[in-house]
Amino acid sequence: MTDWAARKARLILELRREGIADTRVLTAIERVPRERFVMPAFVDQAYDNIALPIENGQTISQPFVVAFMTEALQVGEKMRVLEIGTGSGYQAAVLSHLCRRVYTIERHRGLLDKAKALFEELGLHNISARFGDGTKGWPEAAPFDRIMVTAAAPEVPKALVEELAVGGIMVVPVGITVFDQQIVRVRRGEKDVHSETLLPVRFVPLVEGVGKA
Ligand code: SAH
Repeated sequence: MTDWAARKARLILELRREGIADTRVLTAIERVPRERFVMPAFVDQAYDNIALPIENGQTISQPFVVAFMTEALQVGEKMRVLEIGTGSGYQAAVLSHLCRRVYTIERHRGLLDKAKALFEELGLHNISARFGDGTKGWPEAAPFDRIMVTAAAPEVPKALVEELAVGGIMVVPVGITVFDQQIVRVRRGEKDVHSETLLPVRFVPLVEGVGKA
């Protein structure tokens, strides 16, 4: 039998060593069984600090990047958070332990259905997941206190800035190629929007429109 708890504990230690200090974030990561979100062929690597392939040519992000972006988002327990790019559902599951409600959008129906089934199975009832083009946001549920985009955009998506509450924060990988992507943190003020660059990363692209599968 695999000792998932021991593997998870090792990963948490590694994240701490790499500079993740927010214990709420580390605890949320500890509560999510990453082995349930990866493809069966990669289960053995579920707690390695690496990105892994998922269906439709997409990836479940590296645990360090999940931890870093979650920490950078400064999520409070009463907040409503929008995620673009559900993928495996792993990041949404981590966020669900930190806030009141997570709204997540995915453009591949197969990925979305699988993630929804997992949320149900794991009892993560504060996640609303829907099929669609996340670049358009989720207007009926806006404004959001926090927005996390987990696919790389050529620039900070304007429609999403519009859906950010005043005082809200968005974390988004921005860049045209995988060689120049950076995590950008955007804060929406009363009158202006302030951006800062945090970390070089490699994400799959944010694609407009919905996928065929
Ligand atoms: N957060 C995911 C990582 C998924 S990778 C996880 O924890 O597993 C990025 C995801 O964004 C992919 O599943 C991709 O299909 C999705 N995506 C890309 N462009 C999108 C768009 N415009 N709207 C919604 N989802 C999008």
